[in-house]
Amino acid sequence: MNPSEVLEQVAKEVSVCTLCPLYHSRKNAVPGSGPAGADIMFIGEGPGFHENEQGLPFVGAAGRFLDELLAGIGMKREQVFITNVVKCRPPGNRDPEAEELEACDSYLERQIQAINPKVIVTLGRFSMAKFIPNVKISQVHGQQRYVNNRLVVPMFHPAAALHQGSLRPVIEADFAKLPELIAQANQHESPPEAEDENSKPQQLSLF
Ligand code: URA
Ligand code: SF4
Repeated sequence: MNPSEVLEQVAKEVSVCTLCPLYHSRKNAVPGSGPAGADIMFIGEGPGFHENEQGLPFVGAAGRFLDELLAGIGMKREQVFITNVVKCRPPGNRDPEAEELEACDSYLERQIQAINPKVIVTLGRFSMAKFIPNVKISQVHGQQRYVNNRLVVPMFHPAAALHQGSLRPVIEADFAKLPELIAQANQHESPPEAEDENSKPQQLSLF
C-alpha cells in the first residue's frame, strides 16, 4: 500500500472501530486530514463537539486559531497533516484515559509511518506524553528534539492559548521556529554522495 492508501485504510478502520469505549458516544470518528506527503504533522488531543459532528479535526475555535498560527508562518491547513491521539470524542471533552490512548495508538503509529513527516508538532500534554514522557509542557514547549530519529516539537494546545491569553505570544513564537526546522530537516535528507561536513545532520536534541 502506498502512503495515501494506508491513510485511507486507517480512516476506514477508525470509522467502525470498537477497540475502546469511546465508540459508544461518537457521531463521527475523526481520523485526521491532510496530504500523505505532508512535511509537518500536528497531533492534538481528541475530537471535540464540532469535530465529532463533522468528522474533521480542529474545526472549532481551536481550529480557527490553528489556521491563524499556520497563516502566520505562511502555511495553509491543506499543506499539513492534522490528527489527534484519540480519534473519537471523549464525552463532554473530558481527558482521554490511558486505556483509550493505548487502544488508539496503533492508528496514529500507522499514520506516522505512512506520512513520515519531517517534523511532528504535539499540541497539548497528551500527545506530548506519547513522545516525551514525564516533562512539563511549560518547561519544554518549543524545544525540538529527536525521538526515534524523528524531530518532535511539543507546543501548547491552541485551546489553552484561547483560554489563557498570555500563552498566545508563546505559541506564536514556537510556531515561528517551524519553517527553519523544516529547512534543516530537508538538508538532512540530501543524498549520501552530496554529504559533506556542512550537510551532516545537526545535533538538535537538547537532552
Ligand atoms: N482539540 C483537539 O485536541 N483536537 C481537535 O481535533 C479539536 C480540538
Ligand atoms: Fe477506536 Fe480510537 Fe475510537 Fe477508541 S478512540 S473507538 S480506539 S478509533
